[in-house]
Amino acid sequence: MPFIITDPCIGTKDTACVDVCPVDCIHPRKDEPEFESMTMLYIHPEECIDCGACVPACPVTAIYDSVDSTPSSQKGLIEANAVYRNGDTDAMAKAEAIVKAHVESHQDLMAVLPAERQAAHT
Ligand code: SF4
Ligand code: SF4
Repeated sequence: MPFIITDPCIGTKDTACVDVCPVDCIHPRKDEPEFESMTMLYIHPEECIDCGACVPACPVTAIYDSVDSTPSSQKGLIEANAVYRNGDTDAMAKAEAIVKAHVESHQDLMAVLPAERQAAHT
């Protein structure tokens, strides 16, 4: 069961998780050209080894440890993590479209500071 990045990453995107991931399955990294244009980071569900290192590294508690533990307000972003493939234009566009729809339908959460957003997840 892969780990899932959710919406506190939007507006934070500091890559602290990337720095601790032992298998480089979180993208885009800062040194990748996709970094600037992506709204948040994504965990590759098949490459993630469920080590848990990224969770305490995230300053805004954006990462859940499974699909099951991801709150209902964040369920749409599970698919964004799943479809994102760094460097694949179509896959990146699909993931970003999901994130855009999430932002538009969760203006209440977007109005909360990223550091306080996870506490507002339902
Ligand atoms: S759980 Fe481990 S392998 Fe999976 S994204 Fe986090 S740091 Fe990387
Ligand atoms: S540590 Fe958290 S906020 Fe920073 S990039 Fe990773 S998931 Fe996003």
